Amino acid sequence: MKFNADLFLKNADALGIAVTDTQLSLFENYAAALVERNKVMNLTAITDADGIAVKHFADCVSLLKVIGGKPSKIIDIGTGAGFPGIPLLIMEPSLSLTLLDSTGKKLSFIADFLDSQGLKAKIIHGRAEDIAAKHSERETYDFAVSRAVANLATLSEYCLPFVKTGGSFIAMKSEKADEEIAGAKTAIKTLGGEIKETIDINLTDGAVRKLIVIKKITRTPPKYPRSNSKINW
Ligand code: SAH
Repeated sequence: MKFNADLFLKNADALGIAVTDTQLSLFENYAAALVERNKVMNLTAITDADGIAVKHFADCVSLLKVIGGKPSKIIDIGTGAGFPGIPLLIMEPSLSLTLLDSTGKKLSFIADFLDSQGLKAKIIHGRAEDIAAKHSERETYDFAVSRAVANLATLSEYCLPFVKTGGSFIAMKSEKADEEIAGAKTAIKTLGGEIKETIDINLTDGAVRKLIVIKKITRTPPKYPRSNSKINW
C-alpha cells in the first residue's frame, strides 16, 4: 500500500466528500505509479503514505468544495505530477480537464498513468503565459486551478486569461494567503478578476490551507499575459 487510504477517507469524509471503491483503487494506482516513477525522476518530495493521502490527495479533492457537481471545463496550470488535476478527474470523470506544464518529463509520466487507467485529459506542454497569449483556448475555461506554482499576482496573469467571463480561477494557498491577496489586488483587477471568497480547508495534518476564489468579471485585455521577463506587479 503506497498511501494511507483510511487517512484519505477520513479527510474526505470531513470535507463532506464521498469516495467509491473504484475511485479509491484509482488513487491507489496513482500513488503506486508516483512512487515508482519518483525513483528515476524528481516528481514530488512527498512520498510517504500519510503525506500522499493528506498533502496530495485530500488537499486536491478539497477543490470539489468549489467546483463540484457541475460538468465543467477546467485547466490545471503547472500541474507537475498531476496536482490538483488528476485527483479531480478521479473524483469527477465527467470533467473536461486540461493539464498544462512547462516540463515535458512530468507530462510524460502523466500521459503514461492516464493511459494505463483509461482516464482522459488533454495535455499541453508549454509555459502558461505563452499558451494563453497565443492559444485558441484563451477565455474558454469554466475554471483554472493551480497549486505551488507562483505568487498570486504572477499566477493570476498565468491563469485568468484562460478563464471565460463568469468562470473562476481558484488558487490553492497556505499561510501567506492574505499577504498574497494584498500584493495581487492590482493584478487581479487589471486582468478582469475579482476576489469572491477565501475558503479555509482543514485537514488532519493541521497545516493552513486556503482556496482563493477569483471570479472573472470582464475579459482580460489582449496585452496580457506578458512574456515571463515582463511580468512584474
Ligand atoms: N502543481 C503541482 C506542481 C507544483 S511544482 C503540485 O502542486 O504538486 C511547479 C510546477 O509548475 C512545475 O512542474 C513547473 O514545471 C511548473 N511551472 C512553473 N511555471 C510555469 C509556467 N509559467 N507555465 C507552465 N508551467 C509552469
